[in-house]
Amino acid sequence: MQPIRTFNVSPSLPARLEPLRKLAYNLLWDWNVETKDLFRRLDPDLWESSRHNPVLMLGTISQARLLEVVEDEGFLAQMDRAALQIEDYLKERTWYEKTRDKGSGTKNWGQGSNSSPSSFPNSQSPIPNTRSPECYAYFSAEFGLVDCLPIYSGGLGVLAGDHLKSASDLGLPLVGVGLLYQQGYFAQYLNADGWQQERYPINDFYNMPLHLERNPDGSELRITVDYPGRTVYARVWRVQVGRVPLYMLDTNIEPNNPYDHDITDQLYGGDIDMRIHQEIMLGIGGVRMLKALGYNVTAYHMNEGHAAFSALERIRILIQEQGLSYIEARQVVASTNIFTTHTPVPAGIDLFPPDKVLYYLGHYAEIFGLSKDEFLALGRESTGDLSSPFSMAVLALKMATFSNGVAQLHGTVSRQMFKGLWTGVPIQEVPITAITNGVHARSCVAKSTQELYDRYLGPNWSSAPVDHPLWDRMNAIPDEELWRNHERCRLDMILYVRERLVKHLRDRGASPSEIAQAQEVLDPYVLTIGFARRFATYKRATLWMRDIERIKRILLGNKDRKVQFVIAGKAHPKDIPGKELIREINHFIRENNLEKQIVFVPNYDIHIARLMVAGCDVWLNTPRRPREASGTSGMKAAMNGLPNLSVLDGWWDEADYVRTGWAIGHGEIYDDPNYQDEVEANALYDILEKEVVALFYHRDADGLPRRWVAKMKDAIRLNCPLFNTARMVREYAQRAYFPASDRYHILTGDNYAPAKELAAWKLNLGEHWYNITIKDIDVSVGPDIEVNQTVTVKAKVDLATLTNNDVQVELYQGAVDASGEIVNGVPLVMEYQGEDDQGLSIYKADVLYTTSGLQGLSLRVLPKHKYLSSPYEPRLILWAQ
Ligand SMILES: *Cc1c(COP(=O)(O)O)cnc(C)c1O
Repeated sequence: MQPIRTFNVSPSLPARLEPLRKLAYNLLWDWNVETKDLFRRLDPDLWESSRHNPVLMLGTISQARLLEVVEDEGFLAQMDRAALQIEDYLKERTWYEKTRDKGSGTKNWGQGSNSSPSSFPNSQSPIPNTRSPECYAYFSAEFGLVDCLPIYSGGLGVLAGDHLKSASDLGLPLVGVGLLYQQGYFAQYLNADGWQQERYPINDFYNMPLHLERNPDGSELRITVDYPGRTVYARVWRVQVGRVPLYMLDTNIEPNNPYDHDITDQLYGGDIDMRIHQEIMLGIGGVRMLKALGYNVTAYHMNEGHAAFSALERIRILIQEQGLSYIEARQVVASTNIFTTHTPVPAGIDLFPPDKVLYYLGHYAEIFGLSKDEFLALGRESTGDLSSPFSMAVLALKMATFSNGVAQLHGTVSRQMFKGLWTGVPIQEVPITAITNGVHARSCVAKSTQELYDRYLGPNWSSAPVDHPLWDRMNAIPDEELWRNHERCRLDMILYVRERLVKHLRDRGASPSEIAQAQEVLDPYVLTIGFARRFATYKRATLWMRDIERIKRILLGNKDRKVQFVIAGKAHPKDIPGKELIREINHFIRENNLEKQIVFVPNYDIHIARLMVAGCDVWLNTPRRPREASGTSGMKAAMNGLPNLSVLDGWWDEADYVRTGWAIGHGEIYDDPNYQDEVEANALYDILEKEVVALFYHRDADGLPRRWVAKMKDAIRLNCPLFNTARMVREYAQRAYFPASDRYHILTGDNYAPAKELAAWKLNLGEHWYNITIKDIDVSVGPDIEVNQTVTVKAKVDLATLTNNDVQVELYQGAVDASGEIVNGVPLVMEYQGEDDQGLSIYKADVLYTTSGLQGLSLRVLPKHKYLSSPYEPRLILWAQ
């Protein structure tokens, strides 16, 4: 039955409790201990059953309970405190305000220095301050912010959510852009055979901390996106993440046809056509939405390639509305685009068949004035290969001037993967850098642990940089206190796991004896190893089971030194091998009667993740290097004081893995996966037996594992300041957002004159580049020199119709390897000396040799222009032959 009218009924609160409404609609409650506590206190059972959703809670709580708390002085005082804290948070002078004005070398864009660039809409006034001189838009297909918004699948989403939270803490003028999924990601449960089943609960947007964006006349704000033969409508929901708004598109509305209703139905659901539909909505719809909301965006961040179509839409707008040519428009777009890749393997990248790209997006080729092949080349590494698919990562890389991987090792892997896009550029200079991921400290550290850190380190620990003196105070935390707190976290986790397990078994109709057994799983005093992540096969969730007898000895061999495992994670619904792993673990448990020692917790989500990273003792990770781009759950664990036990991959490869945990292997890469599993499983067992178990159970007279606690303190002190989104977002701001925004203002100023100049210069450069010849290189010495000797190199270059203003000539020098190549060469810009009488340009440099051995040098020419983001941007490089 269709309703003839609908109403949005909002909770009715006694006037004295009105502040609760405001608190509920700003996700700041998730990382403000006082507020979260307040909602729990309001109704603990409802808090749990609503999946920690304060909006749903306020909508369903009994009037009697509300009248009760109105009389509760303690509650009211806490509410007022929380409301005040939020107000203070939104008012405080932020890192952005302190940093951005100072010393970034940018001009003031006529705003007056005291105009607040971060005056973005708060939950009360959704109309943006369009006078803000800059705005960074962060596009992501998923956001993992809080438990009650299940629109994420795993690490990528939680990272995006943490990015927004830290951007809010730092006061960045950032807005998030995403899709609001009607069903979101699935809920997991297991059948009696241990096989993963999926359930897709429908998200009830009206009972979530979401605002529907409206026009001034009260009607729904809508945008449209063209698809073949039809127009699709979307409305806009906002979730307020502290200071940062996250806007999400929703196509589940009339008059869209049933297929189009489903564009925003499921995260990563549907077939390849649906995937293209979604990415068009995210990228193209996202740009239109920001425009409709009145934002003047100065930097665009594509978190993974899903949103790369945004570049096409931005170019279209510049062509059709600003009268720019395609190359001019593309220049503006690329100069202000930032791309983060998260995929270390080609198989993980979104690839679309060329005919589908033309079918869905061919009209952009026409607007751009490109042939079909020229258009498809935007998504191809090898532009001449007309059969190769259209890669969203390649499109994003070609449409951005700042690109990065998510850990140092992943940066190296990405440069290797995409080096073909920069022919002739030495691998270490391929302009894909790395910004190592982090996690949001106030979201992932347990409440009691946060209070402990607040007490001994001061409240700044959650964002303090690595050299901050507060980290020296780590030893001020008494061992007893840290340990008792940790044991409490372990107990909390175990109690919750039992509860979840019991509920899961009841729902499945399990037998009373099974349910009784679930009430007794795990031992609160036993060394607990945690493993929780997506069940993708490369993560090798079953590596620890490889030698059944050996792992049983470790688990049960010594009754005073037992070990137990808590495991959780979802497999993608279509990933059958991933599901097999889940079943294998559950069979292993049952066949070996290990129900008490090994628990698979169903339906891994943010809530269980937070309990596990606080309540386990060791965090295990066994990916096949280098396939874990970053991995972030280990960072969460480290911040809670857990040592990591992991293969050297992702973030762990760059962490202090000796002092803050243990490394499995030494970063080897194997050809034979079976052999690798054998070696690494044995290494894991060895470390468990000889180091982990021994250290954990080594107790002093008071029963305290002091050496273990020392390792916990190292894990916190050394990892918290580094693998933290406060550090990460500061890095994005300073290395990517500020420069891109500056380029935006420069290139678009004066009615786009600088953008036009740069585009025309590039065109001219491309036409004449190949006429440049390096004529003569003169080295001042013979082949044998000594350390500390300076060598002068002079070169003559025929720049043809170009001039010294267009190029930089560089000496490239370094050690020569066995195959006769310069490895890890270092470039040195040569000094221009003027022209000789034949019109050749003369360049000179002095090289000081500080190491012995076979050293080589070469010469190269790179483009130079004041508006370029880097010399690599035009993708031209000329080497001496
Ligand atoms: C942190 C987190 C992840 C990511 O963990 P990895 O170590 O990167 O696999 C996945 N899911 C949830 C719910 C998380 O909180």
